[in-house]
Amino acid sequence: AKHNGKSSYAHFSPEMSEVSHERLQMESLMRRALELNEFELHYQPIVHTETGKLQAAEALLRWNNPTLGLVMPDRFIPLAEETGLITPVGEWVMQEACRTAVGWGKTTGRSIGISVNVSPRQFRDPGFFDGVMSALRSSGLKPELLELEITERLLLDNSIETATILYQLDKAGVRLSVDDFGTGYSALSYLKSYPFDVLKIDKSFVNDVNKEPEDASLVRAIINMAHSLGLKVIAEGVEEESQADFLRREHCDYSQGYYYSRPQTGKDFEGWLKSTHRI
Ligand code: C2E
Ligand code: CA
Ligand code: CA
Ligand code: CA
Repeated sequence: AKHNGKSSYAHFSPEMSEVSHERLQMESLMRRALELNEFELHYQPIVHTETGKLQAAEALLRWNNPTLGLVMPDRFIPLAEETGLITPVGEWVMQEACRTAVGWGKTTGRSIGISVNVSPRQFRDPGFFDGVMSALRSSGLKPELLELEITERLLLDNSIETATILYQLDKAGVRLSVDDFGTGYSALSYLKSYPFDVLKIDKSFVNDVNKEPEDASLVRAIINMAHSLGLKVIAEGVEEESQADFLRREHCDYSQGYYYSRPQTGKDFEGWLKSTHRI
């Protein structure tokens, strides 16, 4: 009850009430952000490691709020997950990403894939699968051009429901990737039991491939394991030429990172597409 909340509030330190005030303010601003059109997607190229040519782009969410400024996802996605707002926001991301990828196909005459991040709560929403299908239908995007990035955290629940949705998506032709591979707690056996197509090696491993022999060994082992299971590999967080060289030598399929391009607004990405030699 409300008066209870108020009396326990008195025990909070000033710092804590400040934090929860900020949280409440953020939550109420977020509730209106969709209708006020405050969300936007930025896009980061994913290229073939061997040639540097564009394969796809990852859609990365930003929240542009007049009071808070440009808010990065690490600051608001956890709150969106807790409050359940991630469901409508995630639906908007899916629609917008698919629509945008179809637009790129038209302007370039080439098929450019789009990767969309999906958080566990969003994935577990009963309407998730239908939402994906409806985004594909209304945009006209080919399912093979949509890749859903899922973290190992989702697989921890080991539930029939999770497995069922993954198989339904796979059957519909959508591609599935494991994001931040190597940072989760899952047993590797899930790679055998779920229909994943791609592993994304976390940037914490890529960072030091030329400085730490252990990291080099890990990245090499992940690439070889993925390939022997029939999976493709994307290296994240490639910032330097020496890392790109290492990944090329190790036959990592795709790369993504500041070395190739930072995430850009849709408009800048369109411009980049028109001018780049990477296409
Ligand atoms: P992520 O999926 O691992 O995305 C990659 C993050 O690494 C992005 O941060 C990207 O800007 C950053 N990055 C790319 N290249 C480099 C590099 O060379 N070096 C370094 N240091 N960083 C690089 P961002 O955009 O801040 O996103 C953070 C996280 O927020 C994402 O991590 C993802 O987990 C989550 N996220 C972003 N958009 C969405 C979304 O639409 N839905 C959901 N559920 N989560 C999202
Ligand atoms: Ca991702
Ligand atoms: Ca598949
Ligand atoms: Ca990642």
